[in-house]
Amino acid sequence: MSTVSTVNGGISFWYAQEGIPAPREPLPGDTTADVCIVGGGYTGLWTAYYLKKAVPFLNITVLEARFCGYGASGRNGGWLYNGIAGRDRYARLHGHDAAVRLQQAMNDTVGEVVRAAAEEGIDADIHHGGVLEVARTPAQLARLRDHHSVEIAFGETGRVLRGARETAEHVRVAGAVGSTWTPHGARLHPAKLVTGLARAVEALGVTVHESTPVTGIRPKHAVTPYGTVRAPYVLRCTEGYTAGLKGHRRTWLPLNSSMIVTEPLPRSLWDGLGWEGRETLGDMAHAYMYAQRTADDRIALGGRGVPYRYGSAAARVTDTARTGAATVEALHDLLVQFFPGAAGARIDHAWSGVLGVPRDWCATVTLDRSTGLGWAGGYVGSGVATANLAARTLRDLIQQDSGQSGPTELTALPWVGHTSRRWEPEPLRWLGVHTLYRAYRAADRREAAATTAATDRIARSADRIAGRG
Ligand SMILES: Cc1cc2nc3c(=O)[nH]c(=O)nc-3n(C[C@H](O)[C@H](O)[C@H](O)COP(=O)(O)OP(=O)(O)OC[C@H]3O[C@@H](n4cnc5c(N)ncnc54)[C@H](O)[C@@H]3O)c2cc1C
Repeated sequence: MSTVSTVNGGISFWYAQEGIPAPREPLPGDTTADVCIVGGGYTGLWTAYYLKKAVPFLNITVLEARFCGYGASGRNGGWLYNGIAGRDRYARLHGHDAAVRLQQAMNDTVGEVVRAAAEEGIDADIHHGGVLEVARTPAQLARLRDHHSVEIAFGETGRVLRGARETAEHVRVAGAVGSTWTPHGARLHPAKLVTGLARAVEALGVTVHESTPVTGIRPKHAVTPYGTVRAPYVLRCTEGYTAGLKGHRRTWLPLNSSMIVTEPLPRSLWDGLGWEGRETLGDMAHAYMYAQRTADDRIALGGRGVPYRYGSAAARVTDTARTGAATVEALHDLLVQFFPGAAGARIDHAWSGVLGVPRDWCATVTLDRSTGLGWAGGYVGSGVATANLAARTLRDLIQQDSGQSGPTELTALPWVGHTSRRWEPEPLRWLGVHTLYRAYRAADRREAAATTAATDRIARSADRIAGRG
């Protein structure tokens, strides 16, 4: 593997390519606002965007600890797709029809992000090529077929199932025995989207303060070292960093995800790989991977490396950890397993980020009407589109609470107001997550060696113990 020149860390490749935008001023002192948003990622910025568009005279302040897009929103795999964490549980809790409405809202959200980005003149390399998920073992193929049927049962249109030969006509993934493709997905450049969004929000008249860590959130107050913002509504939009906030250590577990990106690959290699549709690409492994063909013809590929650091350490926004050599190597191995022709490609960058995982793996959006505190997150790795749906829902919840409108289709969705129990204290939390991911990796290895289509029993038990099912 050629990693001598690999940049490791430094936020992400997306920022290495784009450059970090000029910093915005920190909060100058105590102030007031109608709405104070903590966190300048997709959730916080989309929320500011839709609120300000709906009620232009609202005084909205965004407080960001580092810079807008510092978190997962500037580091992710660029899959804008219609998956939402917890849908199956919401179907069990609220009925199938409610979960279908949630799914349809997610399907629409993909188009909404594409539309809003175009309206704001944000060029985020968006390519609406859908999502392709491949199976490379008999057990993965069985899960893929189940997944395909379940998505159709949740009202998805346009999804197709493909055999090995047909899959290869689209993308030649070594060992692929089948795939499923949905049109409800697009590839994008994460940092271009989030920096463009921050600019759009400011242009609308929202106040954005960077380098302003919020040290405490309480009803009507967001406290920082530079002063306090008093506002009737204070929204926590800190996703994977939530555990770093006082009182929230066990609310959402900060799970790591790591990525590598190759150098731009030559035409001759792409001729062999196909992938002309620029679908986002994933698989059906338990420790799954995700990839995209970038606008400048690189492969960016990610997966869980070291999934979790003791004591939720990854939730500290001051943390700029490098990606461990073993993780970079594991991701490179995966790249070569999928695309043997890319074995000699230089790896230009490796980086990691954190995402938020609730104890029951269900994404949620909430406004507590008695306190004016709101939050959204727990997207478990599917936040690029979900954050936009959450933002429009927070807008509707605030408008409803302030008497400007009644309930809407969005406020009636089953993920609104959902609560999940807290994570176990350490060392159980650390032991649990590491055991879980060891189990998933072992299950993937056993399935790869097996000839049967059954999902490995270790993975099934791990799902049950984790509370994922
Ligand atoms: C490597 C990686 C790959 C991923 N790939 C995908 C993908 O391809 N598709 C997909 O759908 N999802 C993906 N995700 C998940 C997705 O990126 C996130 O769910 C989404 O970006 C969350 O957005 P957010 O605004 O809620 O949180 P973030 O983008 O994490 O933003 C939170 C912000 O809050 C700030 N903050 C934290 N604490 C404080 C504080 N105390 N005071 C002030 N500010 C604070 C942080 O600095 C940060 O900027 C991935 C995540 C990672 C890490």
